[in-house]
Amino acid sequence: MDFVTLGELLIDMFPAETGRHFSQVTAFLPKPGGAPANVAVAGARLGAQTAFIGKVGNDFFGEFLRDVLRQENVDTRGLRFDDDARTTLAMIAQPSAQHNEYIFYRNPGADQRLRPDELDRALITLARALHIGSLSLSAEPSRSATLQAVQWARAAGALISFDVNFRPALWRSPDDARAQISALLPHTALVKVNETELELLTATNHVATGSAQLLARGPQIVIVTLGAQGSYFRTARADGFIPALPVTAIDSTGCGDAFVGALLTQLTRADKAELETRLPAALRFANAAGALTATRRGAIPALPTYQETLALLAAHDAAVS
Ligand code: ADP
Repeated sequence: MDFVTLGELLIDMFPAETGRHFSQVTAFLPKPGGAPANVAVAGARLGAQTAFIGKVGNDFFGEFLRDVLRQENVDTRGLRFDDDARTTLAMIAQPSAQHNEYIFYRNPGADQRLRPDELDRALITLARALHIGSLSLSAEPSRSATLQAVQWARAAGALISFDVNFRPALWRSPDDARAQISALLPHTALVKVNETELELLTATNHVATGSAQLLARGPQIVIVTLGAQGSYFRTARADGFIPALPVTAIDSTGCGDAFVGALLTQLTRADKAELETRLPAALRFANAAGALTATRRGAIPALPTYQETLALLAAHDAAVS
């Protein structure tokens, strides 16, 4: 198994119209979503062997989501069904192209109710990497399940990847989010933030300064995604900016998940010793996957294949040479 993702698998309810706040949206369209699940699908589309661990309701949406993952060749042996809570819904408004607003229907949702005793330990210890986000850290028992999985994966020598993916509406306060997210940093190898998350965790949006602060808290690699500008990395030995591939963007949903899925696809093929030397090329590939996702609407339907990603990189190389 190349990598396993753990966290939320849910229904994204996309607004029928963009450029409107919740009060003006006239209809919502259900689509499969949840960042860690998207990352598993992104990896599978790009040729990696991936699995998803999480919990959905024992309801129509839960079955639908399991079927979507199976169709995308994501291993679902770690997916659990809850008889007492519904599959989580995320209602979305898109007042502008680069900004989504969320209301989570999850009081509690099945994704929060994943328990440590429901984890498939063999699956976790088989994987070269475990990827998680912060939604599963925002409530119990999914927080304990996440921490247990991280502990098993680390003990088995897997790379721990963490996308902070901060959703303010899900936390009691920014302080609570900061505390739970910060507690995990020493146990991770790779941490990905966007500029807002960098500021939440370090009190600066200065990429070089903030990433150095995060690196000092434990991870071996810190990545900052910068939307249409590209991405930035920092390790103990180097840092650098990897420019985006220019595309005609229509919807940024899923770009970060495509980026992480692509990055993990590349890094899990590298020897641990060459992880850092392979990083700039892996980030360029991840930028290309993110860029392609911006050219199509939605998350899972927008995720590119390996051939599409290579073709964008080749077209870009040809244009600049
Ligand atoms: P998130 O905020 O979820 O981390 P981003 O929106 O920064 O994700 O997108 C992740 C990556 O996808 C970026 O680092 C970039 O490489 C690529 N990307 C996103 N939007 C665009 C865009 N409009 N044009 C080109 N590349 C993009």
